[in-house]
Amino acid sequence: MNDQPVIAVVGSGPIGSTFARELLERHPRARVVMFEAGPQLTAVPGESVRNIPSPDEKARARELSQGPQAGALRESLGIPAGTVVEGMFTARQGTHLLDFGGEGAAHAPTFPAAAASTNVGGMGAHWTCATPRPSGSERVDFIDDAEWDALIQRAEELLHVQSAAFADSAVGAAIRSLLEEAAGSDPAPSTLPVAGDPQPDGTVRWAGADVVLGPLADPGSPLAARFELRDLSLVHQIVVDGARATGVVVEDLRTRETATVEADLVVVAADAFRTPQLLWASGIRPRALGRYLTEHPVVISTVALSGDQMSRFASEADLEAELARRAANPVDPVAAVNRIPFAEPGHPYSLQVMYAEQPPFPLDESHPHAGNRWGYVNMGYGMRKRPRFEDGVTFSDDELDYRGLPNMTIEYALGPEEEAEIADATERLRRIGEGLGVFIAEPRLMPNGSSLHYQGTTRIGVADDGTSVADPHSRVWGFENLYVGGNGTIPTATTMNPTLMSVALAVRAAQDAATRL
Ligand code: FAD
Repeated sequence: MNDQPVIAVVGSGPIGSTFARELLERHPRARVVMFEAGPQLTAVPGESVRNIPSPDEKARARELSQGPQAGALRESLGIPAGTVVEGMFTARQGTHLLDFGGEGAAHAPTFPAAAASTNVGGMGAHWTCATPRPSGSERVDFIDDAEWDALIQRAEELLHVQSAAFADSAVGAAIRSLLEEAAGSDPAPSTLPVAGDPQPDGTVRWAGADVVLGPLADPGSPLAARFELRDLSLVHQIVVDGARATGVVVEDLRTRETATVEADLVVVAADAFRTPQLLWASGIRPRALGRYLTEHPVVISTVALSGDQMSRFASEADLEAELARRAANPVDPVAAVNRIPFAEPGHPYSLQVMYAEQPPFPLDESHPHAGNRWGYVNMGYGMRKRPRFEDGVTFSDDELDYRGLPNMTIEYALGPEEEAEIADATERLRRIGEGLGVFIAEPRLMPNGSSLHYQGTTRIGVADDGTSVADPHSRVWGFENLYVGGNGTIPTATTMNPTLMSVALAVRAAQDAATRL
């Protein structure tokens, strides 16, 4: 092995950044070159766009992340800006739909809301930062408890997780009291852990890949000298020689030139659809590649908080203090975040309750609950999807996507177990909402793909038996030096937001890779 090994990392989201950080901290001479297909949005790479104070700059950063559906790139695909293709969903800000309806779009009629972000920091520049720990059957059963706890702790450090965000908010506490009453025997509500750093004025500086990179993104740090991030660099192929990956083929999207970069170790952390796509394009095709796709079916609703109910637990002065705190950061609408966690048996769901001054959609002034003094909560239940071989993404050898990679077709279906849990959670959401106030958006099941938490497509497993893509340390079966990272590695059915778990699995993978270097 090279005395000064080169590590190629594909993808600059929180997971690629975890590999880069852990590997450079563990190996004194290694160099990391990170390739990112999208542009760098912020001066410090990978910062959350939620921290950008100017609304115009924030909107521009989001548009730049939206790949083929945004601005000039969208027009170059023959879809004039502003055109809504029939049957097309709108992607969340900062993301673009995989099945966007133009030339080279993925085929995903049964998973229509599938989306991605293409920018330095990946989806981690746009995420909500909810970072609950997985529990019970959500965890990976072949990693023992003591090791798992240490991995989660490291992941929480890397993401700057804190469990007491807005815990001092009296309004947030009042919402928890109402939740507890309405939810009856469900587990006790608590604040939702989030990734970010509380500021002296009571706001939060949200975490992105920037905090995971940490010293790598600090030009004064010695680690930064061994780290290089190349944005607008699209990896088309992993070069393979027998059981070894020897480099990557990269297109510089500024010059359109393609070059091969040699590497001693290759990590692919390019999200749950584009990671298996790149492996497929490179001729690496384990049976489980792209299969076992899961996400969280999501039922959401919005409730105008009842003044009568809220004032049982919070005073007018509490509300005034909350409004003053939020006025300090008007561009970031999220205030208290609460949850009722997953617990087996009895509550195999995660409920997330975000308190906000305004609903997430425009409410006509004449609406009886417009301008509700106590504000609103957006509530969402996440449910499990059992992993099945049939659900997943396949790739075409004949049809290329808009980036020149094998085009994707996603096939996905909910089964009777999911349907039953969705019905139960919808019922619970209705009961809880009625306890908090008045629905201004009734509970409804979101289209498949809406969770943005896509899992299983490069799952890890204990045996190379066709049901997993990588070993328990995320090393692709049959390869000495090729690792995968991201939500695709999660093999279990989960209900919680997956990034913390994927960072923990990436820490484990990087520990293994470092020993091999
Ligand atoms: P990504 O962050 O998606 O990064 C992958 C990167 O790889 C992208 O930048 C992409 O451009 C790049 N790439 C892909 N292909 C190539 C290629 N061939 N060559 C070079 N680069 C390539 N998760 C939570 O846990 N909690 C939340 O509260 C939460 N909220 C969310 C809210 C929103 C609006 C969004 C969009 C996401 C949210 N998520 C949340 C999901 C979370 O952001 C992801 O789990 C996380 O970003 C995954 O990290 P990653 O590094 O694996 O992938």
